[in-house]
Amino acid sequence: MKKIIAVASGKGGVGKSTVAANLAVALAESGKKVALIDCDFYGPSIPILMGGGTLSSDNNDKFIPALKYGVKYISISFFLKNADDPVIWRGPMFGKAIKQLFSDTNWGDIDICLVDMPPGTGDAQLSLSQLVNLDGVVMVTTPQEVSLSDVRRAVNMFKQVNVGILGVVENMAGFSGDDGKTYDLFGSGGGKELCSKYDLDFLGSIPIEIAIREGGDRGEPAVVNEKCKSAENFKSIAKNLLERIETAELPKVNIVN
Ligand code: ADP
Repeated sequence: MKKIIAVASGKGGVGKSTVAANLAVALAESGKKVALIDCDFYGPSIPILMGGGTLSSDNNDKFIPALKYGVKYISISFFLKNADDPVIWRGPMFGKAIKQLFSDTNWGDIDICLVDMPPGTGDAQLSLSQLVNLDGVVMVTTPQEVSLSDVRRAVNMFKQVNVGILGVVENMAGFSGDDGKTYDLFGSGGGKELCSKYDLDFLGSIPIEIAIREGGDRGEPAVVNEKCKSAENFKSIAKNLLERIETAELPKVNIVN
């Protein structure tokens, strides 16, 4: 794998997995060989967002990832007996599962591997960042302070393990109603402010759109949904991310709580 990029968030429910899945599809559409690894053991939702998938193995006893929309993907939930079982965090067990996802899977040639991280900044996330040799991280946040403060914590955590922040994606940034008005349900501009304050790159924003949620529930990412207005937002973020991956040094983050 040429580059391994984490998609992370300080908080759950901000749309991290939705962003990860859509960025993966957009990067694949742009011609990259893309892997997507779902390590969100609190809520492994990549199989739902990508429209299913099961685990199989090849002749050399390596796992074969699922393939859809040009993206090879695997989820920690593929290793559960029942899809609805909780993934219980136990150090050695989790370490073993991570090894299976990365090393015991026949990925073939991959340009970019996106890792859907568990949300938050606890020990689990810290160990995961150390277990996986990350090249950088994309932070997903919603625009309001309660999410942004968690992002600052997460940025500090990645700093501890020497992982650079490639940029910030602001999700759920406003909702355009049928009345033509825009409602900033979760505030606005917080992602950009965070970036300018801490010298991080702003990769773009995505509004709240019902088609994103509906598509997510039926396994059709927004990027491939012609009816989804935000498809272009995801594509533009993917383009910005590619530029960040291919160019400059990572920004120096200097955050003190
Ligand atoms: P996380 O990974 O941060 O827990 P998810 O990606 O699972 O969050 O998203 C949580 C829910 O919000 C899902 O139902 C998803 O479809 C929905 N969602 C995410 N982003 C948007 C958006 N921009 N507009 C509408 N619904 C969204």
